[in-house]
Amino acid sequence: MSTAEGIIDLRSDTVTRPSDAMRAAMASAPVGDDVYGEDPTVNRLEALTAERLGTEAALFVPTGTQSNLLALITHCQRGDEYIVGEDAHTYKYEGGGAAVLGSIQPQTVAHEPDGSLSLERIASAIKADDFHFARSRLLCLENTIAGKVLPQAYIADAAALARSRGLLFHLDGARIFNAAVKLGIDVRDIACQFDSVSVCLSKGLGAPVGSVLCGEGDFIEAARRWRKMLGGGMRQAGIVAAAGIVALEQNVARLAEDHANARRLAELLLGTPGITLSMDEVQTNMVFVQVAAGQSDALSRHMEERGILISGRGRFRLVTHLDVDAADMDRVAGGFQAFFRA
Ligand SMILES: *Cc1c(COP(=O)(O)O)cnc(C)c1O
Repeated sequence: MSTAEGIIDLRSDTVTRPSDAMRAAMASAPVGDDVYGEDPTVNRLEALTAERLGTEAALFVPTGTQSNLLALITHCQRGDEYIVGEDAHTYKYEGGGAAVLGSIQPQTVAHEPDGSLSLERIASAIKADDFHFARSRLLCLENTIAGKVLPQAYIADAAALARSRGLLFHLDGARIFNAAVKLGIDVRDIACQFDSVSVCLSKGLGAPVGSVLCGEGDFIEAARRWRKMLGGGMRQAGIVAAAGIVALEQNVARLAEDHANARRLAELLLGTPGITLSMDEVQTNMVFVQVAAGQSDALSRHMEERGILISGRGRFRLVTHLDVDAADMDRVAGGFQAFFRA
C-alpha cells in the first residue's frame, strides 16, 4: 500500500513511516536514562539484537553512520588503515568520518561485479609491516551491497584471509537481514564470520530511527565510550528503541515481499525500449535501471507527476519497502512505459 497521499516513494527503504504497532509500542514503552544504562526498552532491544545476531553484546545508536564509525574507531588506532570497497557506504557516503574523526586511512579496493572485493585485491592492498606505511588493521565488507548478496563461501574465505593477516573484520550489515532472508539462512550464519556487525533498523525493517552495533562485550563497552564522545548517548531512548523491537519481531520475514516486489517490477520493466536492466542485479529489494543520461530530468518529472518518486541520473535505483505493494509496482512500470512510449 502506498502512503496516504498516494505517493509511491522508491527513492530508498528509509522512507517508511512507523506502523500503528510501532507507534503503540513507542507510546507505552517503559523508559529510563540510557546513559546510566537504565532504559529497560533500550536494554531489551540490545539484548534482542545480540541474540538474533548471535553476538555477545550490542549497542543502540542513532544512525548506521555512527554505528560504522564507532566500529572503525574502536577497532583501529590513529594511523591505522582499513581496507574497504570503493563504493562502500562507509567509505563513500559517511562524510569520510573514519579519516576525519578517527585518523584512520581508508585503503579502497575496486568491487567485482557481484559486489565482493577479490581476495587477490585485498591481499595486495594489505601493507607490509614497514614504518613508511599505515598499519593495515581492518577489512570492511558490506552485505547486501547495492542490493546484492555476498556469497557465504566468499565471506568465509575473506574472514580466513583477514584472520591469517591479522586484520579485524567488520560488516556494514545495514541490510544483513535482507541477505539472510534471501539466502533462507539464520542471520547468525552471516554475523558469526565477523568481529563486528552494524545493522540498520531504519531501512527495510521499517523503524523510524536507529541502528545497532553488535560484537563482543569488551568491544561494545569500548564503543560505548566513543558513542558518548560523538554525542550519541541518548537519554529516554526507549521511545525509539521500542519501534526497533517491533521491527525485529515483525518485519524480518516479510522482507521476502520486498524482494518479490522488486523482482516483479524488474520483470515488468524488462524489454522496455529505452531502459537497460540486468536481472542479475535484482537479488533483494533494489532494481537498477539505466536510461540515457539526457532523459533523467524529464523522466523524474514525468514520474513525479504520477506520484512516483525515484532517484538517480542515468542510472536509477528503485527500492522496495514496507510502504509499497505489488499493485504499486504495476503503476511504476506503467509510468516508465508511458514515458518511453511517448
Ligand atoms: C543507510 C546505510 C548506512 C547508514 O545509514 P544512516 O543513514 O546513517 O542510518 C550504512 N550502510 C549502508 C549500506 C546503508 O545503506
